[in-house]
Amino acid sequence: MTSLPLVFDAPKRALPPRHLADLDAAERRAAVAELGEKPFRAEQLSRHYFGGHSAEQMTDLTPAVRERLGVLLPELLTPVRAIDCDNGDTMKTLWRGHDGTLVESVLMRYADRTTVCVSSQAGCGMACPFCATGQAGLTRNLSTGEIVEQVVAATRTEAARAGRVSNVVFMGMGEPLANYNRVVAAVRRMVEPAPHGLGMSQRNIVVSTVGLVPAIRKLTQEGLQVTLALSLHAPDDELRNTLVPVNTRWPVSEVLSAAFDYTRTTGRRLSIEYALIKDVNDQPFRADLLAKRLKGKLVHVNLIPLNPTPGSEWDASPKPVEKEFVRRLRAAGIATTVRDTRGQEIAGACGQLAALN
Ligand code: SAH
Repeated sequence: MTSLPLVFDAPKRALPPRHLADLDAAERRAAVAELGEKPFRAEQLSRHYFGGHSAEQMTDLTPAVRERLGVLLPELLTPVRAIDCDNGDTMKTLWRGHDGTLVESVLMRYADRTTVCVSSQAGCGMACPFCATGQAGLTRNLSTGEIVEQVVAATRTEAARAGRVSNVVFMGMGEPLANYNRVVAAVRRMVEPAPHGLGMSQRNIVVSTVGLVPAIRKLTQEGLQVTLALSLHAPDDELRNTLVPVNTRWPVSEVLSAAFDYTRTTGRRLSIEYALIKDVNDQPFRADLLAKRLKGKLVHVNLIPLNPTPGSEWDASPKPVEKEFVRRLRAAGIATTVRDTRGQEIAGACGQLAALN
């Protein structure tokens, strides 16, 4: 097993040009005024941007105004490639940023919802050995606009087939809570009603974290009601120190206590992510220990059959082992489901995003 250093602070790199989605409503009005336009134009422009409209659809703006305000809508992410599977219901897009940085997002259509899985950083500094993104290290933080743009792009794709994006999960590349301010601002853009944002339901947004305790505590105070997912992967420190290296800083008991406090304050059920790795973390005693640590809490366990990553010798647990793990958790009264392995064939499943061109 490789051991990479933990990186909390992204390397200093030039952020992309300022974009409307980086700004809140008041800042947008100021930016529009600076460009010599009436502040109400900010709302018109926002409605078009979050509505996924093309320049031609901005008919309430004259070409001259459109051109002047166009600087607030720079192209942040250029699509490099899109590949799909599941008859087109899972689609992974590779994007190139202004500085050549590559990131990926994944769109997943289900019978009852359409989810976009977004990246919050290019690469990741958390060094989890079973995750392809973690193995590549951290390139830089994404800007608020770059995060929002992944959702707006998916909105456009869906609108073209009379659909809509209902859910967002921060489960793509990166550790969202290591890019805290931009991620929280992006969440606000997603939930703000039109014309200021995408008008999504907070309940349909999931922020997934390795467990940066101070950031979880800060998030608890934001007054948001997004779902928190904690990538636990082991109920004991000895094993979790190796699977999620940040555990050496904030151990299981501390991270669970911060996550339970989030749940208590927000009323949202905590989601525990647990990738089942053959002969590593899938033993019956670990299922029992996990159940013990979660007992009586507002929590749901999401087991993820390990997705293969290049160079890793680890495998998913055999089905009977997985079944027994589920049985023990449920017998202890813990709500448990097994996540589907959507997107495996296109290296678009959990932990497989490496943004290789
Ligand atoms: N950094 C955040 C966001 C990534 S979310 C976090 O760790 O929570 C992606 C989820 O997929 C995390 O729970 C992650 O641990 C999990 N994952 C990573 N590699 C995986 C793999 N190879 N198979 C299954 N799940 C994996």
